[in-house]
Amino acid sequence: MQRVRRLLFPFLAVVVAVLLCASDGVAGYRVRVVSYQGVNYLFVKELADYYGLGFRMSGDSCALRGKAHSISFEKDKREVTVDGVLVNLSHPAAYWQGTLIVSERDVRLLLDPILRPAALPRASVRTIVLDPGHGGKDQGTNGRGRYLEKDLCLRVARKTASILRQQGFVVYLTRSLDSTLELEQRPAIAARVRGDLYVSLHMNTAGNAAVKGIETFLLAPYGTSSTYDSKVWKGARRGNQFDKCNARLAFNLHGGMVAATGGEDRGVKHANFLVLRDVSCPAVLVEMGFLSNASEERQLGTSAYQDKVARGLAAGVVTYAKDVAGPAAGKAGGKK
Ligand SMILES: [Zn+2]
Repeated sequence: MQRVRRLLFPFLAVVVAVLLCASDGVAGYRVRVVSYQGVNYLFVKELADYYGLGFRMSGDSCALRGKAHSISFEKDKREVTVDGVLVNLSHPAAYWQGTLIVSERDVRLLLDPILRPAALPRASVRTIVLDPGHGGKDQGTNGRGRYLEKDLCLRVARKTASILRQQGFVVYLTRSLDSTLELEQRPAIAARVRGDLYVSLHMNTAGNAAVKGIETFLLAPYGTSSTYDSKVWKGARRGNQFDKCNARLAFNLHGGMVAATGGEDRGVKHANFLVLRDVSCPAVLVEMGFLSNASEERQLGTSAYQDKVARGLAAGVVTYAKDVAGPAAGKAGGKK
């Protein structure tokens, strides 16, 4: 179904403009809305104008470029590259009358928090909860057999904690030993220590031994599906309410890890993992590499590479803390 909401248009346009401009005082900026396959979409060209970026279509792809940011979209694809980092939309970009459109929900909950962190709610980020995956009788993956996921996650968590403590953060680990911890206990610990951020640490595995790289997951916003599962989450509980902050945190941690390690960028993705759903603060789950890939397994087992991952994670946390610190400036990114 493709139809422009002609009658509702002025109302919807104002609604969206308000959503985008809520925190930066830009009044009256209009972005048109179209309904495509039951989802509200915005014109990428108009977004480019809104963010003060140049717009260029080329075949099925389009590029937005400016001094501060660059984004590339592709028709029918969820993957977009934002400032050099691969990010997955909840809904694929689509064509509308010869031009590209992107879902309003992706703009509001994923792209805008990345492009305009100054519009995020202000917060003092002091207490960080690191959650080394698995533990005790739950070994996680053992990939090619040299290492156990639970052990490597704990090592990286300890290294990350040490860097963050040196920078003045208070850091809790959900487990500091090789102990068994149920999934439900992990977000509960974050709540008990009043964590400001929660980062769950994991190692990946795949049937195809050639697959390698870094993935970072944030909670799929209510009513959307995971990147790897078309089922839409509509549980009785809405899950954590920090979609925008989750997006910015995921972007920062993912970009930090990829930059620090030179690892392959497999993208920021959405998932409905229990530990992300139930946690009471902004949260992400990072998959630091594939133990099923020979070269990555070798790297992940070395202290030097674990140091790099830890430095990347810590850099992401520090950037996030700065992003949300202090009074809302509303000046970074959006149209002035
Ligand atoms: Zn795991």
